[in-house]
Amino acid sequence: MSDHERTFVMVKPDAFARGLVGEVISRLEERGLKLVAIKVENMPRERAEEHYGEHEDKPFYDGLVDFITSGPVVPMVWEGQDATRQVRQMIGETDPLEAEPGTIRGDYALDLGRNVVHAADHEDEGANEREISIHFDDDELIDYDQHDAGWLY
Ligand code: ADP
Ligand code: MG
Repeated sequence: MSDHERTFVMVKPDAFARGLVGEVISRLEERGLKLVAIKVENMPRERAEEHYGEHEDKPFYDGLVDFITSGPVVPMVWEGQDATRQVRQMIGETDPLEAEPGTIRGDYALDLGRNVVHAADHEDEGANEREISIHFDDDELIDYDQHDAGWLY
């Protein structure tokens, strides 16, 4: 737990195709989290395999890598108090059928394989550091004080 915890989040290709990028970002912004890195890209297959390495032995692994490389994604880093747990709570359960209404998956997803958003697992202690470094160089994460603007009331 930390006031300035950084967590890795990514809009998946299904949500990108449906025009839900802004919706995902809005929800995280409105919650009070701070955006410190973002890009849009077609993820190279090699990086997708690394990203989902923990699922290598699962029957759905090949389909998962096919899907995440099938269209643009929006990898992001968000910062805030308990950011990892906050985001996991906001995205809801992995299976949309189990995700509560009011969560991102509970509001926008039907299909387990097309569940709108990825977020680092708060139960896996090394997940954020690993996933942030897979997708971003250090100099792509910016430092700023969100509330240090003289014109912001
Ligand atoms: P989460 O994305 O919630 O962290 P996991 O890390 O367990 O979930 O799985 C990664 C992704 O793989 C899920 O978001 C989901 O899209 C897909 N997935 C998980 N389990 C299955 C399954 N049994 N069949 C098909 N796809 C799955
Ligand atoms: Mg996971």
